[in-house]
Amino acid sequence: MFLISLICTISPLYGKEYTVTKVIDGDTIQLETGEIVRYIGIDAPELYVKNGGTEFYAKEAAKYNRKLVFLKKVRLEFDVEKKDQHGRLLAYVFVKNTFVNAELVRLGYARALIKPPNIKYKDMFLAYQQKAMEEERGLWQEKKKDTETTYIGNKRTYVLHRPSCPLAKKISDKYRIIFRSRMDAIRIGYTPCRQCKP
Ligand SMILES: [Zn+2]
Repeated sequence: MFLISLICTISPLYGKEYTVTKVIDGDTIQLETGEIVRYIGIDAPELYVKNGGTEFYAKEAAKYNRKLVFLKKVRLEFDVEKKDQHGRLLAYVFVKNTFVNAELVRLGYARALIKPPNIKYKDMFLAYQQKAMEEERGLWQEKKKDTETTYIGNKRTYVLHRPSCPLAKKISDKYRIIFRSRMDAIRIGYTPCRQCKP
């Protein structure tokens, strides 16, 4: 039993390695096998927003991710869900001793993303994010002022909405939480809704 748990713990250090052949953005890559890997526990700004344009710091995040992994050998560690609904692998990615997901949060290239059930490194990512916010690294240089008097969070999905968002209205009482400021929510791991963009 001890040996099995030991092997599980150290497996990312000695696991199978894959070469990264393409960097899609700050949190998504393609392997030599053709498989797409979405980093879990983090969310980098979007390079391509639906209505055109690029989110703040998206290019820098993609560039730094490229620096960390492009044409390098990576090892993957999985959480509860191995793939998302798009068939992408959901993984924690390592290059030698560098934990790529954590490094991107630590340097302010990505936010911590709490998306149950894949939350193995939640506490580590939130601690790194807290520090990056305090030091105003990377994407945290953008100062977004509160434009609403309250914001609505979903305690189950960790998504933050404006009160007028149709998705916010659907949250049951059990999971609804009210914040006075968007940063109060983001600090503890909430992610702005892609639809109402609080
Ligand atoms: Zn929303």
